[in-house]
Amino acid sequence: MESPKSKFLKVKCKKCRNEQIIFNKTATVVKCLVCESVLAEPTGGLAEIKTKIEEVMD
Ligand SMILES: [Zn+2]
Repeated sequence: MESPKSKFLKVKCKKCRNEQIIFNKTATVVKCLVCESVLAEPTGGLAEIKTKIEEVMD
């Protein structure tokens, strides 16, 4: 089995529309730098993205 690929995601905060680059394999909760909404939560594998993904970067 192939492990999930590490990628950077450009997300937009649903609340304040701040755009932020986050890693899809984060081990910690990622919060919006502006309003502190949770953008992603760690699951042990790929992060669970809680907001809108604008772009996936390799
Ligand atoms: Zn925000």
